[in-house]
Amino acid sequence: MEFKKNNKVREELIFEKPITSESANFFSTSLDEIKEAKEFIPSKFLRKDLPLPSLGEPEVVRHYTNLSRLNFSIDANFYPLGSCTMKYNPKVNEDIAQKEEFIFLHPYQEEKYVQGALQIMYELNKILCEITGMRQFSFQASAGAHGELIGMLIIKAFHALNNDKRSKVIIPDSAHGTNPASASMCGFETVVVRSTKEGLVDIDELNKKTDDEVAAMMLTNPNTLGLFEEQILDISNILHKKGALLYYDGANFNALMGIVKPSCMGFDVIHLNLHKTFSTPHGSGGPGAAAVGVVNKLVEFLPVPIVGKEKDRFYFNYNLNHTIGRVKAFYGNFSVILKSYAYLLRIGREGIKRVAYNSVLNANYIKEKLKEYYTPASIRQCMHEVVFSCSKQKNKGITALDIAKRLIDFGIHPPTMYFPLIVKEALMVEPTETESKDTLDRFINIMIAIDEEIENHPERLKNAPLTAPVRRVNEVKAARFPNLRWEKPGE
Ligand SMILES: *Cc1c(COP(=O)(O)O)cnc(C)c1O
Repeated sequence: MEFKKNNKVREELIFEKPITSESANFFSTSLDEIKEAKEFIPSKFLRKDLPLPSLGEPEVVRHYTNLSRLNFSIDANFYPLGSCTMKYNPKVNEDIAQKEEFIFLHPYQEEKYVQGALQIMYELNKILCEITGMRQFSFQASAGAHGELIGMLIIKAFHALNNDKRSKVIIPDSAHGTNPASASMCGFETVVVRSTKEGLVDIDELNKKTDDEVAAMMLTNPNTLGLFEEQILDISNILHKKGALLYYDGANFNALMGIVKPSCMGFDVIHLNLHKTFSTPHGSGGPGAAAVGVVNKLVEFLPVPIVGKEKDRFYFNYNLNHTIGRVKAFYGNFSVILKSYAYLLRIGREGIKRVAYNSVLNANYIKEKLKEYYTPASIRQCMHEVVFSCSKQKNKGITALDIAKRLIDFGIHPPTMYFPLIVKEALMVEPTETESKDTLDRFINIMIAIDEEIENHPERLKNAPLTAPVRRVNEVKAARFPNLRWEKPGE
Protein backbone atom coordinates (compact mmCIF):
# COMPACT_ATOMS: atom_id res chain seq x y z
CA MET A 1 0.00 0.00 0.00
CA GLU A 2 1.23 3.45 -0.79
CA PHE A 3 0.26 6.64 0.94
CA LYS A 4 -0.27 9.84 -0.89
CA LYS A 5 0.33 13.26 0.60
CA ASN A 6 -3.32 13.55 1.54
CA ASN A 7 -3.13 10.18 3.27
CA LYS A 8 -5.36 8.54 0.76
CA VAL A 9 -4.52 4.94 0.16
CA ARG A 10 -3.81 4.17 -3.44
CA GLU A 11 -4.59 0.75 -4.82
CA GLU A 12 -1.42 -0.67 -6.32
CA LEU A 13 -1.47 -1.91 -9.85
CA ILE A 14 -1.38 -5.68 -10.15
CA PHE A 15 2.25 -5.75 -11.32
CA GLU A 16 3.35 -3.62 -8.39
CA LYS A 17 2.30 -6.35 -5.96
CA PRO A 18 4.99 -8.50 -4.35
CA ILE A 19 6.50 -10.94 -6.79
CA THR A 20 6.62 -13.88 -4.44
CA SER A 21 4.56 -14.66 -1.46
CA GLU A 22 4.56 -18.02 0.27
CA SER A 23 0.88 -18.05 1.11
CA ALA A 24 -0.05 -17.20 -2.42
CA ASN A 25 2.19 -19.92 -3.83
CA PHE A 26 0.42 -22.36 -1.61
CA PHE A 27 -2.81 -21.83 -3.53
CA SER A 28 -1.65 -20.93 -6.99
CA THR A 29 -0.24 -23.28 -9.57
CA SER A 30 3.31 -22.82 -10.73
CA LEU A 31 4.22 -23.16 -14.36
CA ASP A 32 6.29 -26.29 -13.61
CA GLU A 33 3.19 -28.06 -12.49
CA ILE A 34 1.35 -27.43 -15.71
CA LYS A 35 2.92 -30.27 -17.66
CA GLU A 36 0.58 -29.97 -20.59
CA ALA A 37 1.56 -26.37 -21.04
CA LYS A 38 5.10 -27.38 -21.88
CA GLU A 39 3.89 -29.54 -24.68
CA PHE A 40 2.38 -26.79 -26.75
CA ILE A 41 4.00 -23.55 -25.55
CA PRO A 42 7.40 -23.02 -27.24
CA SER A 43 10.15 -23.19 -24.62
CA LYS A 44 11.39 -19.67 -25.28
CA PHE A 45 8.10 -18.38 -23.93
CA LEU A 46 8.30 -20.53 -20.82
CA ARG A 47 10.24 -18.08 -18.68
CA LYS A 48 10.44 -18.43 -14.94
CA ASP A 49 11.88 -14.99 -14.34
CA LEU A 50 8.91 -12.94 -15.52
CA PRO A 51 8.31 -10.23 -12.93
CA LEU A 52 4.72 -11.24 -12.37
CA PRO A 53 3.24 -11.10 -8.91
CA SER A 54 2.25 -14.33 -7.37
CA LEU A 55 -1.10 -13.80 -5.75
CA GLY A 56 -3.68 -15.95 -4.08
CA GLU A 57 -7.31 -15.87 -5.01
CA PRO A 58 -8.48 -13.61 -2.16
CA GLU A 59 -5.83 -11.03 -3.05
CA VAL A 60 -6.88 -11.00 -6.67
CA VAL A 61 -10.57 -10.70 -5.79
CA ARG A 62 -9.87 -7.86 -3.37
CA HIS A 63 -7.66 -6.12 -5.86
CA TYR A 64 -10.34 -5.96 -8.51
CA THR A 65 -13.12 -5.22 -6.05
CA ASN A 66 -11.15 -2.29 -4.68
CA LEU A 67 -10.45 -1.02 -8.16
CA SER A 68 -14.13 -1.23 -9.06
CA ARG A 69 -14.96 0.89 -6.04
CA LEU A 70 -12.88 3.72 -7.46
CA ASN A 71 -15.30 3.90 -10.37
CA PHE A 72 -17.91 6.58 -10.51
CA SER A 73 -21.02 4.74 -11.58
CA ILE A 74 -24.72 5.20 -12.04
CA ASP A 75 -25.28 2.34 -9.60
CA ALA A 76 -23.55 4.32 -6.87
CA ASN A 77 -24.11 7.95 -7.79
CA PHE A 78 -26.58 10.47 -9.21
CA TYR A 79 -25.62 11.19 -12.81
CA PRO A 80 -27.33 14.33 -14.11
CA LEU A 81 -25.40 14.62 -17.35
CA GLY A 82 -27.18 16.59 -20.07
CA SER A 83 -27.73 15.63 -23.70
CA CYS A 84 -25.83 12.35 -23.75
CA THR A 85 -27.49 11.22 -20.55
CA MET A 86 -27.70 7.61 -19.63
CA LYS A 87 -31.33 7.32 -18.67
CA TYR A 88 -33.02 4.45 -16.86
CA ASN A 89 -31.42 1.04 -17.43
CA PRO A 90 -33.53 -1.62 -15.72
CA LYS A 91 -31.44 -4.52 -14.45
CA VAL A 92 -33.99 -6.98 -15.78
CA ASN A 93 -32.83 -6.01 -19.27
CA GLU A 94 -29.40 -7.43 -18.54
CA ASP A 95 -30.91 -10.72 -17.34
CA ILE A 96 -32.88 -11.01 -20.55
CA ALA A 97 -29.97 -10.08 -22.79
CA GLN A 98 -27.82 -12.73 -21.10
CA LYS A 99 -30.22 -15.58 -21.69
CA GLU A 100 -28.58 -18.46 -23.52
CA GLU A 101 -31.29 -18.34 -26.15
CA PHE A 102 -29.93 -14.98 -27.18
CA ILE A 103 -26.20 -15.06 -26.54
CA PHE A 104 -25.69 -18.27 -28.50
CA LEU A 105 -27.45 -16.95 -31.59
CA HIS A 106 -25.21 -16.62 -34.61
CA PRO A 107 -25.86 -14.21 -37.48
CA TYR A 108 -25.07 -16.95 -40.00
CA GLN A 109 -27.88 -19.15 -38.75
CA GLU A 110 -30.65 -19.78 -41.23
CA GLU A 111 -33.74 -17.60 -40.94
CA LYS A 112 -35.92 -20.53 -39.93
CA TYR A 113 -33.81 -21.11 -36.79
CA VAL A 114 -33.83 -17.49 -35.64
CA GLN A 115 -37.48 -16.63 -36.09
CA GLY A 116 -37.71 -15.35 -32.49
CA ALA A 117 -34.87 -12.87 -32.98
CA LEU A 118 -36.38 -11.67 -36.25
CA GLN A 119 -39.72 -11.28 -34.54
CA ILE A 120 -38.16 -9.03 -31.90
CA MET A 121 -36.68 -6.76 -34.57
CA TYR A 122 -39.95 -6.78 -36.49
CA GLU A 123 -42.02 -5.87 -33.46
CA LEU A 124 -39.62 -3.23 -32.15
CA ASN A 125 -39.90 -1.61 -35.57
CA LYS A 126 -43.70 -1.61 -35.26
CA ILE A 127 -43.61 -0.06 -31.78
CA LEU A 128 -41.18 2.68 -32.80
CA CYS A 129 -43.26 3.43 -35.91
CA GLU A 130 -46.28 3.86 -33.67
CA ILE A 131 -44.40 6.21 -31.32
CA THR A 132 -42.81 8.32 -34.06
CA GLY A 133 -45.20 8.13 -37.01
CA MET A 134 -42.39 6.89 -39.26
CA ARG A 135 -43.09 4.11 -41.76
CA GLN A 136 -40.04 1.87 -41.29
CA PHE A 137 -36.87 1.67 -39.19
CA SER A 138 -33.43 0.19 -39.72
CA PHE A 139 -31.47 -0.96 -36.67
CA GLN A 140 -28.06 -1.29 -38.26
CA ALA A 141 -26.50 1.92 -36.95
CA SER A 142 -24.04 1.42 -34.09
CA ALA A 143 -24.59 4.85 -32.57
CA GLY A 144 -26.37 8.16 -33.01
CA ALA A 145 -23.66 9.67 -35.18
CA HIS A 146 -23.75 6.58 -37.38
CA GLY A 147 -27.53 7.00 -37.68
CA GLU A 148 -27.07 10.61 -38.76
CA LEU A 149 -24.66 9.55 -41.47
CA ILE A 150 -27.16 6.97 -42.72
CA GLY A 151 -29.87 9.64 -42.69
CA MET A 152 -27.70 11.99 -44.71
CA LEU A 153 -26.85 9.22 -47.21
CA ILE A 154 -30.56 8.52 -47.63
CA ILE A 155 -31.31 12.20 -48.21
CA LYS A 156 -28.47 12.44 -50.71
CA ALA A 157 -29.69 9.36 -52.59
CA PHE A 158 -33.26 10.70 -52.59
CA HIS A 159 -32.28 13.99 -54.23
CA ALA A 160 -29.91 12.24 -56.62
CA LEU A 161 -32.70 9.98 -57.84
CA ASN A 162 -34.75 13.09 -58.64
CA ASN A 163 -31.75 14.52 -60.45
CA ASP A 164 -31.76 17.31 -57.95
CA LYS A 165 -28.27 18.54 -57.13
CA ARG A 166 -28.35 19.96 -53.63
CA SER A 167 -25.19 20.65 -51.71
CA LYS A 168 -26.16 22.30 -48.42
CA VAL A 169 -27.46 21.16 -45.05
CA ILE A 170 -28.80 23.69 -42.56
CA ILE A 171 -27.90 23.21 -38.91
CA PRO A 172 -28.75 25.46 -35.93
CA ASP A 173 -25.85 26.85 -33.90
CA SER A 174 -27.11 24.94 -30.85
CA ALA A 175 -26.76 21.54 -32.57
CA HIS A 176 -24.82 18.58 -31.24
CA GLY A 177 -21.37 18.45 -32.85
CA THR A 178 -22.12 15.18 -34.58
CA ASN A 179 -24.70 16.91 -36.84
CA PRO A 180 -22.29 19.08 -38.85
CA ALA A 181 -19.75 16.26 -38.77
CA SER A 182 -22.21 13.77 -40.31
CA ALA A 183 -23.36 16.24 -42.97
CA SER A 184 -19.75 17.04 -43.89
CA MET A 185 -18.76 13.38 -44.02
CA CYS A 186 -21.54 12.91 -46.51
CA GLY A 187 -20.10 15.68 -48.67
CA PHE A 188 -22.57 18.44 -47.80
CA GLU A 189 -21.65 22.01 -47.00
CA THR A 190 -23.13 23.02 -43.64
CA VAL A 191 -24.98 26.29 -43.24
CA VAL A 192 -25.45 27.54 -39.68
CA VAL A 193 -28.66 29.19 -38.51
CA ARG A 194 -28.46 31.32 -35.39
CA SER A 195 -30.64 30.91 -32.33
CA THR A 196 -32.76 33.75 -30.99
CA LYS A 197 -32.17 35.23 -27.54
CA GLU A 198 -34.75 32.82 -26.20
CA GLY A 199 -32.79 29.91 -27.62
CA LEU A 200 -35.01 28.90 -30.56
CA VAL A 201 -34.31 28.73 -34.30
CA ASP A 202 -34.33 32.21 -35.83
CA ILE A 203 -37.14 31.84 -38.36
CA ASP A 204 -36.23 34.93 -40.39
CA GLU A 205 -32.69 33.75 -40.83
CA LEU A 206 -33.88 30.26 -41.73
CA ASN A 207 -36.15 31.76 -44.38
CA LYS A 208 -33.26 33.70 -45.88
CA LYS A 209 -30.89 30.75 -45.92
CA THR A 210 -33.28 28.15 -47.30
CA ASP A 211 -32.82 28.07 -51.07
CA ASP A 212 -32.93 25.48 -53.85
CA GLU A 213 -29.49 24.17 -52.92
CA VAL A 214 -30.54 23.05 -49.47
CA ALA A 215 -30.88 19.28 -49.25
CA ALA A 216 -32.07 19.17 -45.66
CA MET A 217 -32.10 20.71 -42.25
CA MET A 218 -30.97 18.74 -39.21
CA LEU A 219 -32.91 19.68 -36.12
CA THR A 220 -33.00 18.52 -32.51
CA ASN A 221 -36.33 19.02 -30.77
CA PRO A 222 -36.32 19.64 -27.84
CA ASN A 223 -33.13 21.44 -28.86
CA THR A 224 -29.91 21.20 -26.90
CA LEU A 225 -31.01 24.07 -24.69
CA GLY A 226 -33.78 21.76 -23.57
CA LEU A 227 -36.41 23.89 -25.33
CA PHE A 228 -39.28 22.80 -27.53
CA GLU A 229 -39.08 24.48 -30.96
CA GLU A 230 -42.64 25.80 -30.95
CA GLN A 231 -42.43 27.03 -34.53
CA ILE A 232 -41.64 23.56 -35.76
CA LEU A 233 -44.51 23.57 -38.28
CA ASP A 234 -43.27 26.85 -39.77
CA ILE A 235 -39.78 25.39 -39.91
CA SER A 236 -40.89 22.25 -41.74
CA ASN A 237 -43.01 24.35 -44.14
CA ILE A 238 -40.08 26.56 -45.04
CA LEU A 239 -37.93 23.51 -45.82
CA HIS A 240 -40.55 21.47 -47.65
CA LYS A 241 -41.66 24.39 -49.82
CA LYS A 242 -38.13 24.53 -51.19
CA GLY A 243 -38.00 20.79 -51.77
CA ALA A 244 -35.66 20.13 -48.81
CA LEU A 245 -36.14 17.39 -46.23
CA LEU A 246 -36.21 17.67 -42.45
CA TYR A 247 -33.96 15.43 -40.36
CA TYR A 248 -34.73 14.77 -36.69
CA ASP A 249 -31.90 14.22 -34.26
CA GLY A 250 -33.93 12.21 -31.77
CA ALA A 251 -30.98 10.98 -29.72
CA ASN A 252 -32.89 12.01 -26.61
CA PHE A 253 -36.56 11.40 -27.16
CA ASN A 254 -37.75 10.96 -23.57
CA ALA A 255 -39.47 14.36 -23.31
CA LEU A 256 -41.77 13.81 -26.26
CA MET A 257 -42.44 10.11 -26.58
CA GLY A 258 -46.08 9.22 -26.34
CA ILE A 259 -46.93 12.93 -26.55
CA VAL A 260 -46.07 14.05 -30.07
CA LYS A 261 -44.91 12.18 -33.15
CA PRO A 262 -41.98 13.52 -35.19
CA SER A 263 -44.01 12.77 -38.35
CA CYS A 264 -46.65 15.26 -37.18
CA MET A 265 -43.95 17.89 -36.77
CA GLY A 266 -42.96 17.37 -40.40
CA PHE A 267 -39.82 15.26 -40.01
CA ASP A 268 -38.90 12.94 -42.88
CA VAL A 269 -35.93 11.04 -41.45
CA ILE A 270 -35.12 10.48 -37.80
CA HIS A 271 -32.72 8.65 -35.57
CA LEU A 272 -33.39 7.53 -32.01
CA ASN A 273 -30.53 6.54 -29.74
CA LEU A 274 -31.71 3.23 -28.32
CA HIS A 275 -28.79 3.43 -25.86
CA LYS A 276 -30.05 6.71 -24.44
CA THR A 277 -33.84 6.94 -24.47
CA PHE A 278 -34.55 3.22 -24.63
CA SER A 279 -32.47 1.89 -21.78
CA THR A 280 -29.06 0.50 -22.55
CA PRO A 281 -26.05 1.47 -20.45
CA HIS A 282 -23.52 3.32 -22.55
CA GLY A 283 -20.24 5.11 -22.13
CA SER A 284 -16.74 3.71 -22.41
CA GLY A 285 -17.49 2.75 -25.98
CA GLY A 286 -20.88 1.17 -26.10
CA PRO A 287 -22.36 -0.93 -27.46
CA GLY A 288 -24.96 1.44 -28.80
CA ALA A 289 -27.59 1.37 -31.48
CA ALA A 290 -29.51 3.99 -33.36
CA ALA A 291 -32.84 3.27 -34.97
CA VAL A 292 -33.09 5.20 -38.24
CA GLY A 293 -36.69 5.78 -39.29
CA VAL A 294 -38.13 7.25 -42.45
CA VAL A 295 -41.47 8.33 -43.88
CA ASN A 296 -43.14 6.39 -46.67
CA LYS A 297 -41.38 8.02 -49.62
CA LEU A 298 -37.94 7.13 -48.24
CA VAL A 299 -38.45 3.48 -47.26
CA GLU A 300 -36.87 2.18 -50.46
CA PHE A 301 -33.63 4.00 -49.58
CA LEU A 302 -33.02 2.33 -46.20
CA PRO A 303 -29.98 0.11 -45.64
CA VAL A 304 -30.67 -3.58 -46.27
CA PRO A 305 -31.78 -5.90 -44.94
CA ILE A 306 -34.89 -4.94 -43.02
CA VAL A 307 -37.10 -7.57 -41.39
CA GLY A 308 -40.30 -8.44 -43.21
CA LYS A 309 -43.18 -10.81 -42.45
CA GLU A 310 -45.07 -13.10 -44.78
CA LYS A 311 -47.90 -15.09 -43.26
CA ASP A 312 -46.32 -16.37 -40.02
CA ARG A 313 -42.73 -16.29 -41.24
CA PHE A 314 -40.21 -13.53 -40.60
CA TYR A 315 -37.48 -12.95 -43.19
CA PHE A 316 -34.71 -10.58 -44.18
CA ASN A 317 -35.82 -8.29 -46.96
CA TYR A 318 -32.96 -7.25 -49.25
CA ASN A 319 -35.36 -6.01 -51.86
CA LEU A 320 -35.36 -2.25 -51.54
CA ASN A 321 -35.17 -0.47 -54.88
CA HIS A 322 -32.93 2.46 -53.99
CA THR A 323 -31.16 1.11 -50.90
CA ILE A 324 -27.99 2.89 -49.82
CA GLY A 325 -26.64 -0.62 -49.21
CA ARG A 326 -25.14 -2.12 -46.12
CA VAL A 327 -23.80 0.10 -43.38
CA LYS A 328 -22.71 -2.55 -40.89
CA ALA A 329 -22.03 -6.24 -40.76
CA PHE A 330 -25.16 -8.25 -40.09
CA TYR A 331 -28.14 -6.49 -38.47
CA GLY A 332 -26.78 -4.10 -35.86
CA ASN A 333 -26.12 -4.55 -32.16
CA PHE A 334 -28.79 -7.10 -31.41
CA SER A 335 -28.42 -7.00 -27.61
CA VAL A 336 -29.30 -3.30 -27.62
CA ILE A 337 -32.31 -3.90 -29.88
CA LEU A 338 -33.40 -6.62 -27.49
CA LYS A 339 -33.07 -4.42 -24.41
CA SER A 340 -35.08 -1.63 -26.02
CA TYR A 341 -37.80 -4.10 -26.93
CA ALA A 342 -37.92 -5.49 -23.40
CA TYR A 343 -38.04 -1.99 -21.95
CA LEU A 344 -40.89 -0.85 -24.18
CA LEU A 345 -42.97 -3.96 -23.54
CA ARG A 346 -42.46 -3.54 -19.84
CA ILE A 347 -43.44 0.13 -19.53
CA GLY A 348 -46.20 -0.07 -22.13
CA ARG A 349 -48.28 2.67 -23.72
CA GLU A 350 -49.02 4.51 -20.48
CA GLY A 351 -45.49 4.12 -19.16
CA ILE A 352 -44.08 5.79 -22.24
CA LYS A 353 -46.15 8.90 -21.53
CA ARG A 354 -45.19 8.89 -17.87
CA VAL A 355 -41.53 8.85 -18.87
CA ALA A 356 -42.15 12.02 -20.88
CA TYR A 357 -44.10 13.81 -18.16
CA ASN A 358 -41.63 12.92 -15.42
CA SER A 359 -38.55 13.87 -17.44
CA VAL A 360 -40.01 17.34 -18.03
CA LEU A 361 -41.28 17.72 -14.48
CA ASN A 362 -37.92 16.78 -12.96
CA ALA A 363 -35.91 19.17 -15.12
CA ASN A 364 -38.28 22.07 -14.44
CA TYR A 365 -38.22 21.35 -10.71
CA ILE A 366 -34.45 21.75 -10.72
CA LYS A 367 -34.68 24.84 -12.90
CA GLU A 368 -37.16 26.58 -10.61
CA LYS A 369 -35.30 25.71 -7.41
CA LEU A 370 -31.92 26.83 -8.73
CA LYS A 371 -32.81 29.79 -10.93
CA GLU A 372 -32.01 32.45 -8.34
CA TYR A 373 -28.53 30.97 -7.87
CA TYR A 374 -27.58 29.94 -11.40
CA THR A 375 -28.91 31.77 -14.46
CA PRO A 376 -31.03 29.60 -16.77
CA ALA A 377 -29.91 29.91 -20.39
CA SER A 378 -33.46 30.68 -21.44
CA ILE A 379 -36.48 32.18 -19.73
CA ARG A 380 -38.70 29.55 -21.36
CA GLN A 381 -40.00 26.45 -19.69
CA CYS A 382 -37.61 23.61 -20.38
CA MET A 383 -38.27 20.06 -21.45
CA HIS A 384 -36.16 17.09 -20.25
CA GLU A 385 -33.05 19.12 -19.49
CA VAL A 386 -32.10 22.56 -18.25
CA VAL A 387 -29.04 24.58 -19.20
CA PHE A 388 -27.62 27.04 -16.68
CA SER A 389 -25.00 29.66 -17.32
CA CYS A 390 -22.45 30.12 -14.54
CA SER A 391 -21.43 33.58 -15.74
CA LYS A 392 -22.53 35.12 -12.42
CA GLN A 393 -20.10 32.75 -10.71
CA LYS A 394 -17.45 33.43 -13.34
CA ASN A 395 -17.51 37.10 -12.40
CA LYS A 396 -16.41 36.01 -8.93
CA GLY A 397 -13.59 33.91 -10.37
CA ILE A 398 -15.27 30.48 -10.30
CA THR A 399 -15.92 28.66 -13.57
CA ALA A 400 -18.44 26.05 -14.65
CA LEU A 401 -15.53 23.59 -14.61
CA ASP A 402 -14.75 24.36 -10.93
CA ILE A 403 -18.39 23.79 -10.00
CA ALA A 404 -18.59 20.57 -11.99
CA LYS A 405 -15.43 19.24 -10.31
CA ARG A 406 -16.67 20.18 -6.84
CA LEU A 407 -19.84 18.13 -7.40
CA ILE A 408 -17.63 15.02 -7.53
CA ASP A 409 -16.69 15.58 -3.88
CA PHE A 410 -20.38 15.32 -3.02
CA GLY A 411 -20.76 12.08 -4.96
CA ILE A 412 -22.52 13.63 -7.94
CA HIS A 413 -21.38 13.18 -11.51
CA PRO A 414 -20.65 16.51 -13.22
CA PRO A 415 -23.28 17.73 -15.66
CA THR A 416 -22.28 18.29 -19.29
CA MET A 417 -20.08 21.40 -19.40
CA TYR A 418 -19.52 24.14 -21.96
CA PHE A 419 -22.21 22.77 -24.25
CA PRO A 420 -24.22 23.99 -26.09
CA LEU A 421 -21.52 26.30 -27.35
CA ILE A 422 -23.83 29.31 -27.51
CA VAL A 423 -24.16 29.48 -23.70
CA LYS A 424 -21.29 30.98 -21.71
CA GLU A 425 -20.06 28.83 -18.80
CA ALA A 426 -22.77 26.30 -19.54
CA LEU A 427 -23.81 23.53 -17.18
CA MET A 428 -26.36 21.27 -18.81
CA VAL A 429 -28.39 19.23 -16.35
CA GLU A 430 -30.65 16.31 -17.15
CA PRO A 431 -31.99 14.67 -14.01
CA THR A 432 -33.85 11.95 -16.02
CA GLU A 433 -37.34 10.68 -15.43
CA THR A 434 -36.55 8.02 -12.89
CA GLU A 435 -34.88 9.99 -10.09
CA SER A 436 -36.82 10.62 -6.88
CA LYS A 437 -37.65 14.02 -5.43
CA ASP A 438 -35.25 13.21 -2.57
CA THR A 439 -32.38 12.79 -4.98
CA LEU A 440 -33.28 15.99 -6.83
CA ASP A 441 -33.52 17.91 -3.53
CA ARG A 442 -30.13 16.63 -2.49
CA PHE A 443 -28.63 17.79 -5.78
CA ILE A 444 -30.31 21.19 -5.48
CA ASN A 445 -29.03 21.68 -1.92
CA ILE A 446 -25.51 20.76 -2.94
CA MET A 447 -25.60 23.18 -5.89
CA ILE A 448 -26.71 25.95 -3.51
CA ALA A 449 -24.01 25.01 -0.98
CA ILE A 450 -21.41 25.15 -3.74
CA ASP A 451 -22.61 28.60 -4.75
CA GLU A 452 -22.18 29.72 -1.14
CA GLU A 453 -18.67 28.27 -1.04
CA ILE A 454 -17.61 30.82 -3.62
CA GLU A 455 -17.68 33.47 -0.87
CA ASN A 456 -16.25 31.43 1.98
CA HIS A 457 -14.03 28.74 0.47
CA PRO A 458 -13.15 29.52 -3.12
CA GLU A 459 -9.95 27.44 -2.72
CA ARG A 460 -12.04 24.27 -2.34
CA LEU A 461 -13.68 24.97 -5.66
CA LYS A 462 -10.42 25.80 -7.38
CA ASN A 463 -8.78 22.56 -6.24
CA ALA A 464 -11.77 20.23 -6.47
CA PRO A 465 -12.18 17.33 -6.51
CA LEU A 466 -10.55 17.01 -3.09
CA THR A 467 -11.65 13.47 -2.29
CA ALA A 468 -11.65 11.60 -5.61
CA PRO A 469 -8.94 9.02 -6.40
CA VAL A 470 -7.79 11.25 -9.24
CA ARG A 471 -7.55 14.96 -8.45
CA ARG A 472 -7.78 17.92 -10.80
CA VAL A 473 -5.96 17.00 -13.96
CA ASN A 474 -4.31 19.39 -16.35
CA GLU A 475 -6.63 18.80 -19.26
CA VAL A 476 -4.56 20.63 -21.85
CA LYS A 477 -1.39 18.78 -20.90
CA ALA A 478 -3.22 15.47 -20.73
CA ALA A 479 -4.48 15.95 -24.29
CA ARG A 480 -1.26 17.33 -25.78
CA PHE A 481 1.25 15.10 -24.01
CA PRO A 482 -0.55 11.90 -23.11
CA ASN A 483 1.64 9.72 -20.94
CA LEU A 484 0.41 6.17 -21.18
CA ARG A 485 3.33 4.57 -19.38
CA TRP A 486 3.00 3.76 -15.75
CA GLU A 487 5.77 5.19 -13.62
CA LYS A 488 6.12 4.49 -9.96
CA PRO A 489 5.70 7.67 -7.91
CA GLY A 490 9.08 9.24 -7.26
CA GLU A 491 10.76 7.70 -10.26
C1 LIG B 1 -25.61 11.68 -28.01
C2 LIG B 1 -26.12 12.55 -29.07
C3 LIG B 1 -25.77 12.35 -30.41
C4 LIG B 1 -24.77 11.30 -30.86
O1 LIG B 1 -25.05 10.00 -30.46
P1 LIG B 1 -23.86 8.95 -30.29
O2 LIG B 1 -24.52 7.66 -29.99
O3 LIG B 1 -23.00 9.45 -29.18
O4 LIG B 1 -23.11 8.91 -31.58
C5 LIG B 1 -26.33 13.19 -31.35
N1 LIG B 1 -27.17 14.19 -31.00
C6 LIG B 1 -27.52 14.41 -29.72
C7 LIG B 1 -28.46 15.54 -29.40
C8 LIG B 1 -26.99 13.61 -28.71
O5 LIG B 1 -27.33 13.84 -27.43
